[in-house]
Amino acid sequence: MKITAAVVDELHGSFGLRDVLLDEPRPGEVLVRVAATGICHTDSITRHGDLPFPLPGVLGHEGAGVVEALGPGVDHVQVGDHVVLGWPWCGACRNCLDGQPRYCLRLTDLLVGGRRPDGSTALRDLDGTPLSSHFFGQSSFATRAVVPARGLVPVAPDLPLDLLGPLACGLSTGAGAVLNVLRPHAGSALVVYGAGSVGLAAIMAARNTGATRVIAVDRHASRLSLASRFGATDTIEATGTDPVAAVHEICGGPADFSLECTGVVAVCRQAADSVGMRGVCALVGGAPAGATIELDHLSTLWGKRIIGILGGEGRSIPLITTLIELHRQGRFPFDELVTHFPFERIEEAFAAAHSGAVLKPVLRMS
Ligand SMILES: [Zn+2]
Ligand SMILES: [Zn+2]
Repeated sequence: MKITAAVVDELHGSFGLRDVLLDEPRPGEVLVRVAATGICHTDSITRHGDLPFPLPGVLGHEGAGVVEALGPGVDHVQVGDHVVLGWPWCGACRNCLDGQPRYCLRLTDLLVGGRRPDGSTALRDLDGTPLSSHFFGQSSFATRAVVPARGLVPVAPDLPLDLLGPLACGLSTGAGAVLNVLRPHAGSALVVYGAGSVGLAAIMAARNTGATRVIAVDRHASRLSLASRFGATDTIEATGTDPVAAVHEICGGPADFSLECTGVVAVCRQAADSVGMRGVCALVGGAPAGATIELDHLSTLWGKRIIGILGGEGRSIPLITTLIELHRQGRFPFDELVTHFPFERIEEAFAAAHSGAVLKPVLRMS
């Protein structure tokens, strides 16, 4: 089938829209007409080589759309269902069987291998040249995608598909870290480093917990005012101040929880230093390949936990369903983070995200 996709031909290359050929869905897969797809920092760092996705290929991993055809053996969705394209997982490894599909042991291949598990790709140029597909199990910078059915999250047909895609990645990463993992207890203090879409999703989620102090740290005053609007009780402008000292001053000592969303190595250290004995520091920001972080050995030994969290942990269906319901109740207003662009303006959407002008660009396909 002929579709239109944004193809990256080489490292650091631009997104060129062109017609390409998409396979039929194979066993366990479905064909989805992509209605819209979010743009995420991970697409950008992959284009620049920080994730080893083979090029040429098609990126995009925050898609939502409508099921158009089923491959053999698919029974939990039907043609016509509205779906969010969720996290890929193998379903058979130790972690998948243990209910932790975000930590699937085949994850690297499923996210960035550019091929199905059988080694085939679902995309070709019109002249037959193979293109990498299945980026994060989807390659959603395209008008249609062939995706593993196991990752799909069915949603009600009256919901706006052009809002929902980012729930599968950036927004789950921030909100899931708070709701699934940190679970701040009554009266606790949480500090969030980086008030982009991931950090703001974490702050919105924290408002639904018993945390009484939610502190946002960022370099941009405009982001901090958004953080206040979405539930931060305190804000720290990072430029020209020592944010760790500021956290200690606000809390009268260390915070109970910190969440690092920037991927900047120096900020990871600040997040670790912001919590004390029995505190938990969670790292979710995407650092450049090969980055290392240093910790203070002595203070880290004193019952402090430093953890990495992928994708907000847990299963996609309960988390995304919960975030949609909280949104409906006005308790998770993530739609305020989204700015729409037509698919053809994908480069402009990336530039707007990079400059900070836009928090969460979403491309509309039609
Ligand atoms: Zn992402
Ligand atoms: Zn697995």
